[in-house]
Amino acid sequence: MSNPYKTRAGGATVTIFVPYDCGNNCPFCINKKEYADPTGFSVEKICESIALMDDITPECDFVFTGGEPFANLTDLQVMLDAIPPSHKIYINTTLPLLHGVTRRDILAFAEKNREKITCINVSRHLVRYVQESDDQMMADMAVPVRVNCVLFQDYPKEKLPDYLERIRRLGRPVQFRYDYTDTTPENLYDREHDPIYQDLCRLARYTGLDGCRMRCGFHFDYHGMELTYHKTLPYSTIVETGPDGITYDVLYDILIKQTGELHSDWTGVKLDVEAYRKAVFEPYDLRWLEWV
Ligand code: SF4
Repeated sequence: MSNPYKTRAGGATVTIFVPYDCGNNCPFCINKKEYADPTGFSVEKICESIALMDDITPECDFVFTGGEPFANLTDLQVMLDAIPPSHKIYINTTLPLLHGVTRRDILAFAEKNREKITCINVSRHLVRYVQESDDQMMADMAVPVRVNCVLFQDYPKEKLPDYLERIRRLGRPVQFRYDYTDTTPENLYDREHDPIYQDLCRLARYTGLDGCRMRCGFHFDYHGMELTYHKTLPYSTIVETGPDGITYDVLYDILIKQTGELHSDWTGVKLDVEAYRKAVFEPYDLRWLEWV
């Protein structure tokens, strides 16, 4: 570590990579190579790191991602149970029916954990990169659900109207996402040269913008359905000199890898745990920038 850490009040979001794979091969996936060699994958080590993060930041958010969190409900339950109720918990999933896990199993899991789970984010893309279970599962979940859709490269924009109608019938919000491997500080807030923003403006009513140093969200209303267009940088540390004259590594995300190892960024940088215990906290800089 070269600089002392700074992060937002409550602590950086902690993203947990589950120690088992998803079975898909999305072209924009940066996690896939992580699963090529499962040597050292450990639920126990992940739980130890969860406890460590809870000790340092008892109110940080946790996100389960992968891989595929719902591919092993037994292990997911163990990891969920390791997180005290002071934290919000999000789960990124495709809602797969893998390894004998059934529709009923997943719905029962959500029902059982409805007090723990803040939101399940389900990937449903314009192009079918993943094995999809039936849409009705999203509507039937006992917890909040958001649909995530990555608009990758030259996406088939002619499919957008049908897609929007498909999701609107479920009564759940949708978040479109720019390919984060292509996001830069220069294009993060760009609208003029952003085809996704332009396409969405033609289909839905723009209502406002929120954002911070790291990410932003353009908000729309589509016939009563909440629609967001989200952009985020492909790393999670910003080096910045504060008003106190000290240069900090400002952390947005901390990762628990499949082995339990803690990283301070998506780029392979390990977290200095003792330095994080001394992190300086600032108010979260994500705020509304525009209302229409
Ligand atoms: S489903 Fe998720 S983890 Fe699996 S290949 Fe696609 S983006 Fe990657």
